[in-house]
Formats: sequence, C-alpha cells, structure tokens
Amino acid sequence: MAAEKDFKLTYATMFNPPEEFHIRFEEELGKVRTNLGKEYAMIINGQERYSSEKFADRNPANTDEVLGIFQKGTTEDAHDAIAAAKKAFKAWSRTPWPDRVALIRRAAELIDQRIYEIGAVLSLEVGKNRTEALGDVAETVDLFRYACQSMEEHHGFIVEMGRDPLPGFLATNFSVLRPYGVWLVIIPFNFPCALAGGPAAAALVTGNTLVMKPATDTPWTARLIAECLRDAGLPDGVFNYVTGSGNTIGQALIEHPDVAGVTFTGSYEVGMKIYRRFAQSPWVRPVILELGGKNPAIVSRHANLDDAAIGITRSAFGLQGQKCSACSRVYIEEPVYDELVEKLVSLTKSLKIGDPTERSVYLGPVINQNSYRDYQNFVKELQQSGTILTGGQILTEGNLAKGYFVAPTLVADLPLNHRLWKHEMFVPITTLAKVKNLQEAMDLANDVNYGLTAGFYGAPEEVEWFFDEIEAGVTYANRPQGATTGAWPGFQPFGGWKASGATGKNAGGIYYLPLYMREQIHTLVKRL
Ligand code: NDP
Repeated sequence: MAAEKDFKLTYATMFNPPEEFHIRFEEELGKVRTNLGKEYAMIINGQERYSSEKFADRNPANTDEVLGIFQKGTTEDAHDAIAAAKKAFKAWSRTPWPDRVALIRRAAELIDQRIYEIGAVLSLEVGKNRTEALGDVAETVDLFRYACQSMEEHHGFIVEMGRDPLPGFLATNFSVLRPYGVWLVIIPFNFPCALAGGPAAAALVTGNTLVMKPATDTPWTARLIAECLRDAGLPDGVFNYVTGSGNTIGQALIEHPDVAGVTFTGSYEVGMKIYRRFAQSPWVRPVILELGGKNPAIVSRHANLDDAAIGITRSAFGLQGQKCSACSRVYIEEPVYDELVEKLVSLTKSLKIGDPTERSVYLGPVINQNSYRDYQNFVKELQQSGTILTGGQILTEGNLAKGYFVAPTLVADLPLNHRLWKHEMFVPITTLAKVKNLQEAMDLANDVNYGLTAGFYGAPEEVEWFFDEIEAGVTYANRPQGATTGAWPGFQPFGGWKASGATGKNAGGIYYLPLYMREQIHTLVKRL
C-alpha cells in the first residue's frame, strides 16, 4: 500500500483508513465488476489446465451473480500437479536460498501492487466488507515478507555447531535445515488470500514445491495469488493451483504418496481426517493443521466496559462470525453484566448489514446455503433454551433477498451445560453468560476442546493471571480493536492449542519456517 504513506493497514487499524483507500477500492471494484463471469483454468506445471466439468463461483450477497467459472479438477489433475511439483523439486530446493527469497519478495511486490483488485474480488467472493477484504490481502503481503525476513535473519537456517575434539583430526559440523519435497496447501473459504499465501510463501521460500487447493466457495482469490507467483517468475511446476471439491480432488491430493507435507486450514472434522489419513504412510510426514475455535472473552468487574463492548462486538460479528478467531462466548462478572449487555445490544443493533463492497457496511452475507441453514437451525435451538437479545432472523428485505443475509445475534440465559457453548457455530451468533467471579469464567473458558484465541478486559493486575491461566494460542487483554480477532504477522503470530492446531507454533512468527524443513547434520572430518 505504497500510496498511503503514514498509514499501515492491519486488522487493528482498519476502522478508519485514509480517503484514498476508498477511492482506489471503488475504482478497482468498478473494473472487476465489468469483467465478471469469465472462465479460469487451473495452473499445472506452468500451463493452463481445463477440465470437462466446471462450477460457478457465485456472489453470496447476490446469488444471481456469477463471478467466474472454475474447473472441477479430477484425480488425474491432482496426480499431474503432484508429478509437476515433484519434478521441479530438485532444481528449486537447490536454488540458493537468497534467490528464492528474491522471487518470493517479487511476488509480494506484485500482490501489493494488485491489492485493490484482489481486495475487490475477495469482497465479492467471500462477502467480506471492504476493509476486512483489503486486510486479508495486506496480511498476505506481510506474510510473504515475513517469511523472507525470517529466512534472512537465520541465514538460510545453516548453523555451524561445535567442533568435536578428535586428536589428529579437524571435524566441522553444520546443522542444515532442508525442505521436505512436494507441499500441499489446502485453503478454507474465509481467508482465501492470507491462508493461501502464508503457507505457500513459507513452503516455497524454504525450498519445497507447492500444490494448492482453494475452497469451492472461493477459488478466484487463490487464482490471483497463483498469478502473482507466476508473474514473479517462479519456474514451471514449482507452484501448482488446482480447483474442485474437497471430496474428490482434495482427497486425491491427500492420498498421494508423493506428498511430503501438508498445511491444512479448515474445520476440525476435515483436519483430523487428513491427520489420520497421513498417519497411514510408512513414515511420519509433517501435517500442519490450523483448525476451528470457540473463542471466549472474559470481562472483569474492573473492566473498561466501553472498550470491552466495542472489542467484543467487532470480534463477534466481523466477517459475519465466520472467523476461526470469532468471539463466540462471553463470560461477564455479575456486577457489570447488565451494563455491558446493554452496550453490546446497542452496538450490535447499530451495525450496518448489506452489500459488503459498500463503504458503510460492516456485515455482508454468510458464505453459502449451508451456513444460511445452519444459522436458522442454531437460532431455533437457542430460542428453546435461551433468550435472543437481538437478531435471530434471516434478512430478506429488498436486495437482501438475493443473498445469504442474517442478523447478528446475541443470546443470554443459555444454560451453561448447553451443547452450543462448546460447538463452533461459524455464523454471527454469540452467547453471553453471567458469572460469579473470574475463576468461574476461566474454568468455563478452558472447558472446551478448542484453544485458538481468547480475550480479557480487566484491571492491569488481573491480566497476568489471565495470560497464565487461559488455554489458547493467541490472547489479548484490554483491546478495543478486537477481543479475540485481528492478529497480524510479525505482531501476533497466529495459531491454536488443543483441537485448534497441531504444531503449537504460530504462523507469521519466529518458529514457523522450521516447520517446513527437516534437519540434516553435515560432519566433515579432515586428517591433520
Ligand atoms: P472445511 O474444513 O469445510 O474446508 C477447508 C478446505 O478443505 C476446503 O478447501 C475444502 O474443499 C477442503 N476439503 C474438504 N474435504 C476435504 C477432503 N476430504 N480432503 C481434502 N480437502 C478437503 O472448512 P471451511 O472452508 O468451511 O472453513 C471454515 C473452518 O476453517 C472453520 O472451522 C474455521 O474455524 C477454520 N479456520 C481455521 C483457521 C485457523 O487459522 N486456525 C483460519 C480460518 C479458518 P471444499 O471447499 O471443496 O469442500
């Protein structure tokens, strides 16, 4: 974002961007809109690959609008993509790491130059509001750059070890981290840019070759990232982009013995299936899983309630509650419960819902028919056991009838043993509970399988206790910019504990790149 000199877009700064940001977004949106409905191929071994069967990528805000036509990739396409990546691996892994860094930096430059175009596509395809959409692209640029910086700071991860004392000999020992081979990246619908780009950049800069598959709902954004890799000059076969259903081409990719490692970001159910499938091979291959969340916010009686209310509302309903980090549970100490709930209801009611590309809109549609149905079923179930404070209905007035629009929903009085306190709903519904004290809140917060993000609002002397006790990979205290959402590479590396992730090391952080490499020790002995 070279144009806005003193402004850096992150999920924490995006609420009030400079005017130029809006002007450029609207210009690019206009261009993208005149170009809808085109057909896009897969990219295998540097070639455009078409299938006999296609699928339509539709705008969830207006399902009459076909954004593009994409290929239903087959098992054969999966195998060809893996074969191309395997063939390219030898040369790419032997390319000096500073040359790989230079190519990945060039790709980051291209993504940065195309940020408004990619952001406009992303807003149409995912239903993200414009600042969240541009945030997803800007995050991708930073993930690419962070991977390059990390490679440089560690000098390519080549480290001279001690010289063992061998009388009459000189022994030198080096620890070298080396890539695994063909790396698979499987992408969810909700961050189709950053969750394609982050793992892709890490895999590529460390010397692996890549096959990436986006979600069926969001193939276009990942295609634009693939084009940036292509235009940056990565050799044929080093990256491959395939599309189609998870159950067919996705499964064929997972089952292929030549896949050396995988980064899967998506639901717990699919992620664990992949993990178990991978365990059936003759040796253990790396599986990086980034899975769901059930992210709590805890509010103490000493909290600044205005900060808590805005932070919780932003995290509960940003991207329609479809972030892995969405704040879906809130535990509030009794003395401040009524006052905070009143603020939350009032803020939630003020959120504008509609076409997410419009400047003033905060909530767009949910992603598809399944999510639309899930929302309605969850509301029915919650109405039976709790109190809907606001929301609780689908929105069908005027143009909203053409898309999957639902009202952001706050629920109180839900018994604490209700199953939906533990289930990731992934729609804009957040449940609120009154607790006697902070320890009760903490016990409830930790009593789920997930452990992705968590937020706290309270006195400074309570904060260390929160950090110490909470079981989550990304934790925030007293943050009005977002109770549980809004991590940024380099600032808040992102990853989950327990059922939310497999490695215990966060993306966009200091321990991430080594996950994509294996260690080899080089010992050389010379007679003196
Ligand atoms: P899904 O698990 O439904 O799908 C994720 C990806 O897996 C899609 O590309 C999908 O393809 C593919 N897939 C599905 N089945 C298979 C299979 N058998 N083999 C290989 N690939 C398969 O997740 P969603 O896209 O709905 O994303 C939402 C989920 O992702 C939520 O649980 C959310 O919490 C989690 N998430 C976690 C993040 C984190 O960093 N921890 C970040 C973002 C999201 P297709 O679309 O064709 O089915």
